[in-house]
Amino acid sequence: MTDAPPTKRKCLGADCDNDAGSLQCPKCLTLGVKDSFFCSQECFKRNWNTHKTLHKQETSIFDRIFPPKAVSKPDPETGYYNPFPNFHYTGALRPVYPLSPRREVPKTIPHPDYAEDGIPKLGRSMVRSNKVELLDAKAQAGMRKVCKLAREVLDIAAAAVRPGVTTDEIDEIVHKACLERNSYPSPLNYNHFPKSVCTSVNEVICHGIPDNRILLDGDIVNLDVTLYHEGYHGDLNETYYVGDKAKADPDTVRVTETARECLELAIKEVKPGTLFREFGNIIEKHAKAKNCSVIRTYVGHGINSVFHCPPNIPHYAKNKAVGECKPGMTFTIEPMIALGKYRDVTWPDNWTSTTVDGKKTAQFEHTLLVTETGVEILTARQANSPGGPVAVPTTEATTNGTN
Ligand SMILES: [Zn+2]
Ligand SMILES: [Zn+2]
Repeated sequence: MTDAPPTKRKCLGADCDNDAGSLQCPKCLTLGVKDSFFCSQECFKRNWNTHKTLHKQETSIFDRIFPPKAVSKPDPETGYYNPFPNFHYTGALRPVYPLSPRREVPKTIPHPDYAEDGIPKLGRSMVRSNKVELLDAKAQAGMRKVCKLAREVLDIAAAAVRPGVTTDEIDEIVHKACLERNSYPSPLNYNHFPKSVCTSVNEVICHGIPDNRILLDGDIVNLDVTLYHEGYHGDLNETYYVGDKAKADPDTVRVTETARECLELAIKEVKPGTLFREFGNIIEKHAKAKNCSVIRTYVGHGINSVFHCPPNIPHYAKNKAVGECKPGMTFTIEPMIALGKYRDVTWPDNWTSTTVDGKKTAQFEHTLLVTETGVEILTARQANSPGGPVAVPTTEATTNGTN
């Protein structure tokens, strides 16, 4: 619903009484002017000579107040600002800076090797060789433990999701819950990621940075939690509905539940002998049946004493991933499913990945252990875990409010 322009909006053409269509002046968009809607390409062209004088005003105001490429003006009341005002955002979401100061982890908690300088070192030779590690009983126990703790932390964070809370507040909750479990929040400073959890709202595919934006009724938010505990990483994520509006919107529920189902269907096939490339076929088949697309840029990954290592698990069909499941392997499957196009655009923060058309996207992730007979879901939901499946509302139920 947030993707369509409001129907009462009028065309900006001076000689035109039509309602505006979805065409926005591209120059205005780059200037951060969000209301320049026209009814048609013809009207836009006809009015160009008068309309373009607006750009000069906008540009000169910007040039006077800010040095080139500077940030937008902080809100005088809150101090919040958009750090990339000239960026062509694909949807309605904007970053709300400043980010909170970096959260500290006491030295007594074991840190992964990238914690200081942001550069992961362990496992780089393995990434090159494509060799998948087989974990012995002791390592499997270590994985079991960290994944259980990661589930606890995700559930604590999920319980805080509601309209009005900021993603930075969720980051604080995750950070604190990690420390209480003698664990390092793995995302913190991993390749210089600035926060302890990824929070991905609406059109954000993954790697959203917690900031001062509040969650709104109608949003969906993915929380991607990874802990480092006693030498092992445990990684999982889920997408949550924010408020009742989100649960009442058929498209929002469709993309979220499809992502949840895609992961479940793929996990059913995890057992010795299954080819890694097969998971993408299963996932894309289901996504297509629900009229959704599969993001191709980001993949599932091996995980153990290294955060990201072989194998690669693409989520799209007809991929060329090499290798097969063997007992003792631990890896994630984490399909990202979109309502619109599968292509992605990354914000200038070099992390936040969004859909190219600004339509919603959802994701679910588990860390999995291949056993002799099948699979152990190391990050499995508990009986009291927040979230869980929601039925797609029918048009009738949403209009008369009886459901
Ligand atoms: Zn994750
Ligand atoms: Zn992951």
